[in-house]
Amino acid sequence: MSLAATCPAVGSFYLSRSPRGTPRFKMAVRSGALSVAPILTNLQKDCATPLPVLRHVADAMEADMLAGLAVDGGSDLKMILSYVDSLPSGNEKGLFYALDLGGTNFRVLRVQLGGKEERVIATEFEQVSIPQDLMFGTSEKLFDFIASGLAEFALKEGGKFHLPPGRLREIGFTFSFPVKQTSIDSGILIKWTKGFAVSGTAGRDVVACLNEAMKRQGVNMRVSALVNDAVGTLAGARYWDNDIMVAVILGTGTNACYVERLDAIPKLQGQISSNGKTIINTEWGAFSTGLPLTVYDREMDDASINPGEQIFEKTISGMYLGEIVRRVLLKMAKDGDLFGSSFPEKLATPFVLSTPDICAMQQDNSSDLQAVGSILYDVAGVEANLRARKIVVEVCDTIVKRGGRLAGAGIVGILQKMEEDSKGLIFGKRTVVAMDGGLYENYPQYRGYLQDAVTELLGSDISKNVVIEHSKDGSGIGAALLAAANSKYEHDF
Ligand code: ADP
Ligand code: MG
Repeated sequence: MSLAATCPAVGSFYLSRSPRGTPRFKMAVRSGALSVAPILTNLQKDCATPLPVLRHVADAMEADMLAGLAVDGGSDLKMILSYVDSLPSGNEKGLFYALDLGGTNFRVLRVQLGGKEERVIATEFEQVSIPQDLMFGTSEKLFDFIASGLAEFALKEGGKFHLPPGRLREIGFTFSFPVKQTSIDSGILIKWTKGFAVSGTAGRDVVACLNEAMKRQGVNMRVSALVNDAVGTLAGARYWDNDIMVAVILGTGTNACYVERLDAIPKLQGQISSNGKTIINTEWGAFSTGLPLTVYDREMDDASINPGEQIFEKTISGMYLGEIVRRVLLKMAKDGDLFGSSFPEKLATPFVLSTPDICAMQQDNSSDLQAVGSILYDVAGVEANLRARKIVVEVCDTIVKRGGRLAGAGIVGILQKMEEDSKGLIFGKRTVVAMDGGLYENYPQYRGYLQDAVTELLGSDISKNVVIEHSKDGSGIGAALLAAANSKYEHDF
């Protein structure tokens, strides 16, 4: 996979030419305002997402989906079978647990379901951030951490939560990394993403890894469903709304899934009766066709632990947006004197500027951009005057606008594919896309840009039928609902 980066002419600023055409040395051009502007202009040009670019991305997403459904390995998009073929009905009853290993946080949740009448009687959850060293350690260490968190949480069960005697507690395990699902309760880790480099898990069944850790930790619970976070979000949102057809995660990483007809999946070769529906996990983070990329993206990708992979994820998701901005600001500081003449040491550290930081800067409405100034000082150790602060906000906006709009184009690609298969199914009636993840939840500008792109692509008439809606914590409840649906105990729901 090649990164079709358009290379902005930033390199030429090292040796700019004087009006008479004789090269001047770098020091001579460090005159501030003048030399930052072209870097910004080039960035905006390279990140631009006018309608034709969006359309190309949406069409490429649709084509890649078809290719991935045709044969295994047919495209960047793995189009993984979820083995979820019945969606929650609302009748589910009993106590169920969910575990969620994302990219930043680990969450445990329990829910007492009361069927159609009572619905969700009670939920409780706890969240801890995943310690950095576990992201680079061994599989045993990571899964022991999960199992012991679960054990501690289960000990606090009480109140409205009841398990019938003689039953094991059942868990829906949300695991937000690419897994080749082998049944509803097993799946092989294809690869770690989102900065994880845990040894000994790739190629193994992650449910077996968890079961072994639970054994080591003395936890007697049963994993009834292994669920991707997008799939969990779709199931959780469907519990409340029958029009949910697509779910998208925009958090540390990104992914999307949708409801597909089994007979529209050629790679199944008739293995499953052809009249039903299932959820396909696209793993769209690996998409890479036609994206407007810059030299900063290419350099970040080169330095990543998975170069050449997850290009869509690296362009639109929370783990990376702040880092792209940092790389641009560093360039502007080095070659354009953005922050005066002293070299901003701290700004040279990868990932020191986070997506929540750039989000906070974009919320600053004060006339002197005071919050922007203090965030830059705190995280990057730089003193920025008002002019520099304004430029920084422009850079954040450029990267976030590109990310949100491309995510919107990806969603339209999925909707197009579904509509193409069954005319009127999507665009002819109310269709809901359930959204979740910390980036979507917390970044209003990103949400706005995403919605703009969807509206531009679909046109005002069709886009009235397409509702893009935040489904908070849907994936936890969704995983618990799928555990209920796949309970080993008798149930009549
Ligand atoms: P995970 O992806 O680990 O499952 P979340 O869905 O909670 O977890 O997403 C966490 C990510 O969301 C963070 O890594 C960050 O990129 C992004 N995020 C969190 N808070 C904010 C915020 N205030 N503004 C922008 N992005 C945020
Ligand atoms: Mg998550």
